[in-house]
Amino acid sequence: MRKPLLAGNWKMNLGIEDSLKFVMRFLRALPNHVKPDIVICPPATSLYTVSVALSEQNRVVLGAQNCHWEESGAFTGEISPAFLSELECKYVIIGHSERRQYFLETNDILNKKLAAALKSGLIPIYCIGETLDERKAEKTLAVIEKQLAEGLGSLNFTGQNLVLAYEPVWAIGTGQVATPEQAEEVHVFIREWVKKNKSSELASHLRILYGGSVKPDNIRQLMDKPNIDGALVGGASLSVESFLELVSLDKD
Ligand code: PEP
Repeated sequence: MRKPLLAGNWKMNLGIEDSLKFVMRFLRALPNHVKPDIVICPPATSLYTVSVALSEQNRVVLGAQNCHWEESGAFTGEISPAFLSELECKYVIIGHSERRQYFLETNDILNKKLAAALKSGLIPIYCIGETLDERKAEKTLAVIEKQLAEGLGSLNFTGQNLVLAYEPVWAIGTGQVATPEQAEEVHVFIREWVKKNKSSELASHLRILYGGSVKPDNIRQLMDKPNIDGALVGGASLSVESFLELVSLDKD
């Protein structure tokens, strides 16, 4: 049985003060019965403050939005996975489509980042997904397979130290959520790929999140699908109320 996971990706939103306000309000309002693992990924400048705010409890953990592949060195402006571990980050998002698109991160670069994150004891949330043009050209599964093979093929990981997120690029920030059937089809394909290329045991334990315009009013239908183990949420994680609603939902 895979434990559901809800991760909030704040992207370049909420400075230090607003991040702190969010976390304090969220922790105060979080009901005891909430079951999923909860991860908050604030901007890098808020990581320290949020880390301190989360330090007295274990219900919400910290994630980063990106990391470099080296532990240290002449990489101006970059953040090493070791530094994120020092900040008590547990998770790190790797390969978000915005980083692929705007910062030209390729599968090869992401493979190095994934290896470095795993080596530092961080749990990568590796994002994969097709663009609208690729979907229209019926290339979705080929794109996913390439992102899996080039990003993960060479790596040793388990169902405990890595999470996958299927995020169709056309659904991110657009309000156009994938149908539960569209998402489930790709999640099944991903799990089959892991089974074939790694092991059945790993495939059965690996959590695969869906991401792309997840909101309180559409998460239930998505989570009802057997291979959807949670969500990576952008916009709807920026409001305490909607993120609370999202994390309050469990798989039946
Ligand atoms: C994301 O940034 O990973 C994301 C899924 O964004 P949104 O929920 O806003 O579509």
